[in-house]
Amino acid sequence: MAKFEGYKDIYVFVEQKNGEIANVGYELISEARKLVASIPHMNFDVVGVLLGHNIKDKANDVIKHGADKVIVVDDELLATYSTQFYADALTQVINAFKPDSLLTGATVLGRDLAPRVAARLNAGLTADATKIEMDPEKEDEALLLVTRPTFGGNLFGTIICPDTRPQMATIRPNVFSMDPVDESRTGEVIEFTPEFTDKEAKVVVKEVIEKVVEGIDITKCDILVGAGRGAEDCLDMVAAVAEELGGAMCASRAVVDDGLADKAIQVGQTGKTVRPSLYIACGISGACQHVAGMEKSDMIIAINRDPQAEIFSIANMGFVGDVKEILPLLKEEIIAAKKA
Ligand SMILES: Cc1cc2nc3c(=O)[nH]c(=O)nc-3n(C[C@H](O)[C@H](O)[C@H](O)COP(=O)(O)OP(=O)(O)OC[C@H]3O[C@@H](n4cnc5c(N)ncnc54)[C@H](O)[C@@H]3O)c2cc1C
Repeated sequence: MAKFEGYKDIYVFVEQKNGEIANVGYELISEARKLVASIPHMNFDVVGVLLGHNIKDKANDVIKHGADKVIVVDDELLATYSTQFYADALTQVINAFKPDSLLTGATVLGRDLAPRVAARLNAGLTADATKIEMDPEKEDEALLLVTRPTFGGNLFGTIICPDTRPQMATIRPNVFSMDPVDESRTGEVIEFTPEFTDKEAKVVVKEVIEKVVEGIDITKCDILVGAGRGAEDCLDMVAAVAEELGGAMCASRAVVDDGLADKAIQVGQTGKTVRPSLYIACGISGACQHVAGMEKSDMIIAINRDPQAEIFSIANMGFVGDVKEILPLLKEEIIAAKKA
């Protein structure tokens, strides 16, 4: 008899707000597709779980992004996020369908929901993961190797949950890439009605005040010019170059800690994770905590006056020299290449 009788498939919690699905759900579905493809003999599906109110019509979007099935829980108690009702509903979905694993975005919502559900199920949860693989020696158990930074980001730890199901993990947005939409894809939509034992909300939200995002959201930028401590004396120039290239400036924590940039544009383990098509690292040493937030960029160009700087080990192209001299020349080259 299989070790975990009845547990099957990789489930992805598909986060939505006001009917708008967060990209992280689609990123996790794309990654889950790779995981199930690595264990074809297990015949696993990728299943999206969509909670909310008046969201049934979104299920097809989830399928077009790679899910084989979508479980929809549509209830007015789920219209806005509530820890109580979302945890109730998701726990019941898991108890009813028995997923082998459940992936959730490490967003504010996901970080609140996943641990509560894991505790109710007595399941193992790896929080804030940056990598997920199938253990090649435990493919018959579909054992996940889930990696996350630890000890202040100086080490990476790989965590396994061999004794309980589902295996749960939260993963930061932008860590995995999103597969292109397949408009022709079809799949099954299953509606599930949970029993809310207590319909009285324990916490009543009186008013929702939308966060006003000032400035540019760097996680959405296609071109980023990162300023490190080595560019602190030319931040205006870095910002101007970023704008001329049609992108934005971001910064290392050193620049933020020195009070020269807003925390909202910090890239890295304690900042944002970005994956633009072009990241120009200016005067950034390449500490692992910074690299964790930008290493998935398509193209990384580094400028640093120290030829031994760590950043060069992950850069596609590197320039040894002063930011103030090299960045303006590089900008001209990029603009000329774009026009050509
Ligand atoms: C728990 C924890 C979490 C952290 N989280 C983050 C995080 O989210 N993001 C983050 O960035 N860091 C983070 N850090 C800090 C991280 O360890 C590094 O200290 C930080 O990234 C260093 O920033 P930097 O590369 O800009 O500065 P430095 O390490 O001081 O490097 C400056 C670089 O600029 C070069 N340079 C100097 N002058 C010039 C010049 N004129 N032209 C060209 N090159 C020049 C130097 O050769 C050097 O390589 C974290 C640390 C810890 C312990």
